[in-house]
Parts: sequence; structure tokens; C-alpha cells
Amino acid sequence: MKLFDVYPLYNVTPVSAKGIVVTDDKGQDYLDFYGGHAVISIGHTHPHYVKRLKDQLDKIGFYSNAVQNPLQEELAEKLGVLSNCEDYNLFMCNSGAEANENALKMASFVTGKSKVIAFKNGFHGRTSAAVAATDNPSINASINLQQKVNFLELNDIKGFKNEIVKKNICAVIIESIQGVGGLDEPTTEFFQKVASLCKENGVFLIADEVQCGFGRSGKFFGFQHHNIQPDIISIAKGMGNGFPVGGVLIHESISAKFGMLGTTFGGNHLACVATLAVLEVLEKENLIQNAEELGIYFNEKAKEIPQVKRVKGRGLMLGLEFDFQVADLRKKLIYEHHLFTGGAKDKTVLRILPALNITKQDLDIFFKALKTALA
Ligand code: PLP
Repeated sequence: MKLFDVYPLYNVTPVSAKGIVVTDDKGQDYLDFYGGHAVISIGHTHPHYVKRLKDQLDKIGFYSNAVQNPLQEELAEKLGVLSNCEDYNLFMCNSGAEANENALKMASFVTGKSKVIAFKNGFHGRTSAAVAATDNPSINASINLQQKVNFLELNDIKGFKNEIVKKNICAVIIESIQGVGGLDEPTTEFFQKVASLCKENGVFLIADEVQCGFGRSGKFFGFQHHNIQPDIISIAKGMGNGFPVGGVLIHESISAKFGMLGTTFGGNHLACVATLAVLEVLEKENLIQNAEELGIYFNEKAKEIPQVKRVKGRGLMLGLEFDFQVADLRKKLIYEHHLFTGGAKDKTVLRILPALNITKQDLDIFFKALKTALA
């Protein structure tokens, strides 16, 4: 059997990794400034994370959600405290797409409505009703068939007001910092207006924190830069540092009913322990503060590079905007300088999403290589 060929691949085969260093099958080291789409939050094979998972695997890796799993409660408790979201309840699943599907399902169940507002260049996973930032015609086709999602301009409050008053909207889904799209953000004024219009119109506000959450933006959640309170928060990616895990935080004003949501694998013992280990490291090593401080350092260093038009994003969720497409630059950085970086739907944006425990010295190496690659 062959693989279903959907990914254009770089010619690199990682076989081991530690911190931000990824080593390939030929023994070549690469520095990882992309973290596999913002997934690696505490560095590859962090010793505490590895030990926690190995210890758990020796005990029990999985049993179904039909029995008690105190690890889920321990995780919900710790997540609530660290994220300052103690007035939410946690439902666990396995990926960002699943988290958003569950969030949208909840909104539709509770409001009895079915249409969704999303924003242009947003990306919410390979979901039936929640994808926006893609040029992929097959994904757009499935959405167009469903006619469920209205994609509005970010920061256009007039356009938003016209839509939200239509009586069939169950949810607004929004990223606090767009990931795949290219690091655009709602302004605080826009976000706060959206939140209050959602409340007035009985529409659920879903914060998609799959990429910008778990400390990456320099606060636990990206929406916390804007002083708003979503009804549902979806999480994944950095949550498991590579272990596939996702979840939705559902505000306690929304009541649970038996059978409302469900999953086979979600919240299994290993997923809980991976997430607990991530939270423990974030807390012990002060990584959210590190993300904030290094984001500031990154901005300063980027100013030294004349080709950089603009630095986008916050904390360690960053983009460098150029006045040319960055595909060739990324190739140069990988093959000549051995650095992983990311692209975006906006092809002029180079995405930088490293582990939250990188250092200033790591960023110095990145900028030195970038300067040479641009020369
Ligand atoms: N939401 C956002 C903001 C994302 O960036 C992504 C993936 O890139 C998803 C959802 C989908 O997550 P997953 O690929 O785990 O399904």
C-alpha cells in the first residue's frame, strides 16, 4: 500500500529531537522555529514530559469514558487555575478540528440555530462547518454546499452588525491571532463589540485558541489580551506538545446533559498526563512570561533587518512580513541554514512558532541566518 499523497514534503527525515534541535536520519541537526505548526510548546522530548508519559504508560494508557478517570479532574482543576478560567468546564477530545466541531455542535444544540459567522483568513481545521483560510477548492466546496458559514471581514464592525442580527446564527468563531491565515488580529475594540453583540443576540462566542492558546501569545489565552469572555474556548496543538489531544472549555452558564457530547479516545490517561506535564512545565519554568519577553526581543531584532516590512503577532506566535513571497526563503533556511520556519496563506509572511522555552541566543542564531539568507 502507498500513502494517500496529500502533503508536499521537504526532503528531511527527523529521527530524534531535543529542545529545539531536531536531528535527521543523516545526523544533520536543525533548529526548530516552527514546532510542527505551533505544537511543540515545551520543547521536544522535555525530560519531565517524557518521564510523566513513560510512568503513565507503565500503569494504564487508556480506558473508556464509561468509567471514572481522576486524571481528567486533576487536569481540569489545574487548567482552570493556570488559565484563570475556573468558571468553565472541560470536555476533552483529540484534535483542534474536533474541538471546534464540538464547540459548534454545542452552540447549535443550545440555541437551536445552525448558521455560523467566521472571518476571512481564519482557519478552524478540516471541519464541515468551520474552515475559512484555505485556497483548497475541495474544502471550500464542502462549505459552499453546506451554506452554513458566513465569512466576514475581520475588524469590519458594520458588516458584522448586519449579519449578527439575522435570527439564524448560533455561533461566531474567531481566532485571537490568526495562525494559518498570516497573523492578523481583531482589534480590542472590534473583539469587545463582537462579544457584546453576541450576548445581545443570544449567539455563542467561540474563541478558537487551538494555535494561539496555551501561553503562546504571552498570556495563557490570546483573547485575554482583549478583556472579553467567550462562551466556549477550543484548545489543542501546544496542549499536548505532540501528543494528540484537544478540548473545549464550556462556560458554566451552559449546562451539560448526559450524551450531549462524546468520544472514544478523548481524555484518555496518556492525553491527560501529556497535558498535565505541559502545564507543569509552563508553570515551573515560567514559560508564558518567557514567551512575552522573547516576543519583545524578537521585535527589536527584526527591526535590524531592512527587508522586514512588518512584524506580526504577539509573544512567540509571530510572523515576518516581506514584500515578496517567502517559499524560496524557507527552502534556503531549511536546506542551507538548517532552520525550520513556517509559511501562511498570506504567502509574504514567514511564520515563527518556536517552543516557549527558547532563549535570546536561539533567536540571535535565527536572525543571523535570516540576514545571510536574505543577503
Ligand atoms: N484551529 C486553528 C486556529 C488551527 O490553527 C488549526 C490547525 O492548524 C485547527 C483549528 C485544526 O486543528 P487540527 O489540525 O488539530 O485538527
